[in-house]
Amino acid sequence: MRTDIHSPSKLVAKDYGFVGILYSKKGNRQGRTRDSYGKLVDLHIARVQEHQERTLGKFVNHKGECTAKKSVDCCHVCGTHIRYKAVFYHARTNEYLVVGFDCASKLLHGNTALFAKIKEQVKKYNTKDKTVETIYECGLGEAYEMANAPVDPDEAPQLRKKKQIIADILGRFVTYGKISDKQIKFVESLLGQVKNWDRYEAAQKAEKEKSADAPEDRVEVQVTVLKVKDTDWGTKVFAKHESGWTCWGTLPREIETAFKGDVIQFTARFKQADNDSKHAFFSRPTKALTLKEAEVTEVN
Ligand SMILES: [Zn+2]
Repeated sequence: MRTDIHSPSKLVAKDYGFVGILYSKKGNRQGRTRDSYGKLVDLHIARVQEHQERTLGKFVNHKGECTAKKSVDCCHVCGTHIRYKAVFYHARTNEYLVVGFDCASKLLHGNTALFAKIKEQVKKYNTKDKTVETIYECGLGEAYEMANAPVDPDEAPQLRKKKQIIADILGRFVTYGKISDKQIKFVESLLGQVKNWDRYEAAQKAEKEKSADAPEDRVEVQVTVLKVKDTDWGTKVFAKHESGWTCWGTLPREIETAFKGDVIQFTARFKQADNDSKHAFFSRPTKALTLKEAEVTEVN
């Protein structure tokens, strides 16, 4: 039976001042721990630390013993093991008590809004940690680390773009906690390209060199749609001829529902790009029609 001044049956609530909140950080399975749980939680941890450094006061555990701050892991009032700790200071003895949120709300006369906020923040960060763990479990750990590595200002813009796509997909995964098998495969293939960038670039270059020159003047062409894009200047189409050259221009109105993979035919005026004879821009397309629709293999 405790008889000390802080014993729950004796303590006088008004003698204790609220200092701040501590949260016991939990290591995850990979042994990685989070350094920060966001501004609010960090602020409270710092506040308790500063206070204690100033007073050099001792922490008292639920058995009434003075101990190190770190080893107080039970609520002073009810003795339950706690992760969230409200810290109270008793000036007369220069001692601190650690109380769980449930018991602390009684001491603070029901002022629990702050506790709810802290819990919410920690939960948000823990969910984030769990998602990062899932990224590793999906085998995308390497992609995740690469996406979060510092950007090399000298790297090729195309390479940077691919890394950015990986970072965007994994960033959305962390935010929303969802990723599809299709996206996982896509990230894996991008990662393969990024890791073997020199080889990938050489292969791209070799393929381009093999391809025929894009046409000039007004001609009829049959090309495969690679991309349809809405821009401020109308809907544009990026397409590729079977001999390898590519072209970009306004999507003809007759085939405005064209889709990636469709084979289309139209007549237009072509002009090769200034520094690339394998690519052309076309204008004023006419007589457009779809020769073959793309096979739809997946419905999202
Ligand atoms: Zn308690």
